[in-house]
Amino acid sequence: MPEQKQRPRIISRGHYADTFEPDSDEEVYDADTESLVRALLQQVGENPDREGLKRTPLRVAKAMDFLTSGYGMSVDEVVRNAIFSENCKEMIVVRNIELYSLCEHHMLPFFGHAHVGYLPNGRVVGLSKIARVVDVFARRLQVQERLTQQVADALMETLAPFGVAVVIEASHICMMMRGVQKQNSTTVSSAMRGTFEEDARTRSEFMAFLRRE
Ligand code: ZN
Repeated sequence: MPEQKQRPRIISRGHYADTFEPDSDEEVYDADTESLVRALLQQVGENPDREGLKRTPLRVAKAMDFLTSGYGMSVDEVVRNAIFSENCKEMIVVRNIELYSLCEHHMLPFFGHAHVGYLPNGRVVGLSKIARVVDVFARRLQVQERLTQQVADALMETLAPFGVAVVIEASHICMMMRGVQKQNSTTVSSAMRGTFEEDARTRSEFMAFLRRE
């Protein structure tokens, strides 16, 4: 059995590009996953030893590690050192945060955008960190509804704001390529917390931000 190399710690760094190494046929990243992928290739009627597929188990193992790296990340870790006291009481909205996730029913991608708003209560967070909080939960096996709620709850917990709103619009490959084959449908989910849940005016102010060009 080939000796397994130390697995690159991409989980804590979150920079996939850093893990690319010079091509070598001996490279092993995650022997267990690679042998599962090899078996899957055989199962679909392929020859895993042909030129184009030789390194596929290795590539899939690396890709899956990255796509599920959210399990190894925590919101605390991501927002640490990026929360500031600020006497801002106006709504903050970050729109069009790119989002890529895997549906837990088919392990196929779903992708789209997240829109996040909150009403601060003395604490604000660096704007780029909101996008990273989305990634913490998107880089797991997910259903869109739960992803939406997890982002909202995490921000409620970390920032203790007056309220949080999260809207996610996404296209699901499992609906587009298989099953009902609806290529143009998108799914919209929302989670409202605090004032966004209780006050219709706050909610419509947020929705107006999303429509603005
Ligand atoms: Zn699915």
